[in-house]
Amino acid sequence: MAYATSSLGKHISRKNNNPKTMAQYKYNSNLEQNQHQAFDQVLHPGTPTPYSGIYRCEGCGVNEVSTHTHPLPPQNHHQHTAQQGAVRWKLIVATH
Ligand SMILES: [Zn+2]
Repeated sequence: MAYATSSLGKHISRKNNNPKTMAQYKYNSNLEQNQHQAFDQVLHPGTPTPYSGIYRCEGCGVNEVSTHTHPLPPQNHHQHTAQQGAVRWKLIVATH
């Protein structure tokens, strides 16, 4: 069984070379679609977290957990190429 020893994400197809692009989950029953505008907001580093959950960097796709009212990770949280621009956070899974 080829999948038995695989690391998480190994068999997920990627649209770019970043191995951290997509958040993972197993069971659909644990997540619910929500059309709230909070998922469309692009937030600057250090902004107080509006909703606890998983945030994705718009520049490189890295995911980070952040807690309500705590500042979102700073600009120097991870390195970007010039092409990726500034770190910008967008809510992808809300846990509030
Ligand atoms: Zn980034």
